[in-house]
Order: sequence, then structure tokens, then C-alpha cells
Amino acid sequence: MAAGTTEPLTLAAYGDQVAGCTRCALAVGRTHVVFGSGSPTADLMFVGEAPGFHEDKSGVPFVGAAGQLLGKLLAGIGLERDDVYIANVLKCRPPGNRDPLPEEIEACESHLFRQIELIRPKVVATLGNFSTKLLSGKPDGITRVHGQVQEVVLGGSRVLLYPLFHPAAALYTPRMLDVLETDFARLPELLGATAAPTIAQPSGAAAPESPAGASEPVQLGLF
Ligand code: URA
Repeated sequence: MAAGTTEPLTLAAYGDQVAGCTRCALAVGRTHVVFGSGSPTADLMFVGEAPGFHEDKSGVPFVGAAGQLLGKLLAGIGLERDDVYIANVLKCRPPGNRDPLPEEIEACESHLFRQIELIRPKVVATLGNFSTKLLSGKPDGITRVHGQVQEVVLGGSRVLLYPLFHPAAALYTPRMLDVLETDFARLPELLGATAAPTIAQPSGAAAPESPAGASEPVQLGLF
């Protein structure tokens, strides 16, 4: 690289930066920032809610009971954790696993948008209400929109947003697990169907950091 030019930021380098994040009060009580895990070039990215006890201790997302279920669901469609990328809306554990607060989401969301920008997935599967509302930019809850593909622009690229029930909710509700499995089974088809062109970014321009930059989500005819 020529003198004076800067290396492009890699996902790993960005993770190193975020490891010291103090943007919100959750920094005080955390053991680890849970940045994300998996392939930095994954076509499929999952976005959950926030780290829980085990994730905070290990620094890895979805390693508890919900994570075990996510692993099984992935295996059911022929994928492993390392084939996808897994992250959360919040990178630090809320005390007692309470819901994320609006100010915590606001403080943390640019980390998620930057991850999407660097990974450039084709499909972003949101797990539960918090990631679905944040990334769709719409207030519609997961019960209403699960399994419905929306085309949005995230991190400067067109992606298919695919809302799913959160595995933690499905753990205790067999009917929800059935729905989650049915919705999950469509992921291979979505991954195969995505040929969406990337939105050109003016050189040096940052990708939108909030869904204000997202296109109106639409239901794709072919799905
Ligand atoms: N574990 C995570 O990492 N995220 C969740 O949303 C739930 C459990």
C-alpha cells in the first residue's frame, strides 16, 4: 500500500475498536463486548437482541440455550455457525437480561450498521422484535412480519431482510418453534434468489447508519 493511503478497515479491526466501547452505561457492568462471530464474508447474517449471561462471560453471541437451538436450525438447512455471521443489536449485556433501552440501541446501532457494511450479506435474518424493528425501520412486531421478506438498503447495499421469531421465545413455545422451523426452511431459497445490485456509494461516503437511509421495505413479488 502506497505511503499516505489508509488500509481499508477489516471486520476484525473494527471488532478490536468496539472492544473498548464506552458509548452507554452497559459498559460498566459487562465482562466482554460481544461483537459478533462467524464468517466476515457471510451471505447470511443473523441479528439477535443482546448478549445474555453466557455470551457476556464468553464474548461469543448465542452460546446459551437459544444459541444451541440456532445451531440446530442451521444444521437443518445444511449450514454451520462458521458459514454465517451472528451479531446482536446490543453488544453488551443488559443487567438481568432486561429489554434493551432506546438510548442503548441508539448508542450501539452504528456498530451493527458498520458490521453490515463490512460483511455485505445478501440476507439479514432478524431474530425477534428489537432487530426487526431497528433494521426494517418500521414499528411492526415480529408476530406480524415473521417470514415476510423485505428489501431494504443497509450499510450501502441492498439486502433481503427476513424477520424470524427469536429462538429464545421458541424454546418454550412449541407452536412458535414450528413456525420458526418453517420460516427457516426458506433461507436457502432466499440465498439463491438474491442477485440484488449493490447501491453505489459516492467514494468516501459513509453508508447510512440508521434505517432512515433504508428504502421503503417492500414485499418482493417472487417470494
Ligand atoms: N444470546 C445472544 O447472543 N443474543 C440474543 O439475542 C439472545 C441470546
